Amino acid sequence: MTYIGRFAPSPSGPLHFGSLIAAVGSYLRARAQQGRWLVRIEDIDPPREQPGAAAQILRTLEHFGLHWDDEVIYQSQRHERYQAVLDELYQQGKTYHCHCTRAQIQAAGGFYPGTCRDKQYPALNAAVRLRVDAPCLSFHDQLLGLIEVEPRLASEDFILKRRDGLFAYNLAVVIDDADCGITEVVRGADLLEPTVRQITLYQQLGWPVPAWLHLPLALQQNGLKLSKQNHAPAIDELPVVATLCQALLFLGQTLPDDTADMSAESLLRWAVEHWQLSSIPTIASVSDV
Ligand code: GLU
Repeated sequence: MTYIGRFAPSPSGPLHFGSLIAAVGSYLRARAQQGRWLVRIEDIDPPREQPGAAAQILRTLEHFGLHWDDEVIYQSQRHERYQAVLDELYQQGKTYHCHCTRAQIQAAGGFYPGTCRDKQYPALNAAVRLRVDAPCLSFHDQLLGLIEVEPRLASEDFILKRRDGLFAYNLAVVIDDADCGITEVVRGADLLEPTVRQITLYQQLGWPVPAWLHLPLALQQNGLKLSKQNHAPAIDELPVVATLCQALLFLGQTLPDDTADMSAESLLRWAVEHWQLSSIPTIASVSDV
């Protein structure tokens, strides 16, 4: 079976060092297995997106020598498909409509207690939740081993479509990864917890579950995750080869003796040949970038 991996940035801003780690890690993992590497722009949440960010992210990937296979997928163009899967789940009695607000859920202890499960509300202005009767509580991560998630979190009837009509990340990511035949999901360890929900959804849909590999998070000096929300600097302006070297070191990989005359492409070729999954650190660390 051909390995198919992917990188799935949200266009909420330009790429930062944390997202470069996910891009480089998923790219090397795929190419080291002669696999394919796809790019998907996760533009399902317009209020959190920045105009022009998607195009900028793609330019940055190319600039860093991270060339993808096939056409880029845009989640904003897949609403019909998401709705079709939702309709099917609803017809099978696997989802229900919910009117609870965030404040009501907070008041109930922070986890959704299934208030609307048997209310038979119509779809209008309602969120769609998955009936989680047989939750996945743990999974095997290719780097981190057995990951167990708090049962209350894993068993919550989670949202597939929001009350404001936006499709939820957990729904879109599962449908897209399944439709693209992704064999292994490689991404940052901030997404460990949602993984059990995604597996529950795969199981409800009767679809094969991919393998999972979560990479260490890059932190700021203050211990916060490098992220667009935390105003991590964009990598566009940084020297390409030196920044790629930082990403490789962060992932525990070795570097060639002399990178002075290397292009991004030749450095990545070298890194694919020398890729060692077992050298990736399993804990988050502060990034120098
Ligand atoms: N779009 C998500 C992000 O940028 C990543 C989703 C994923 O890799 O599953 O954090």
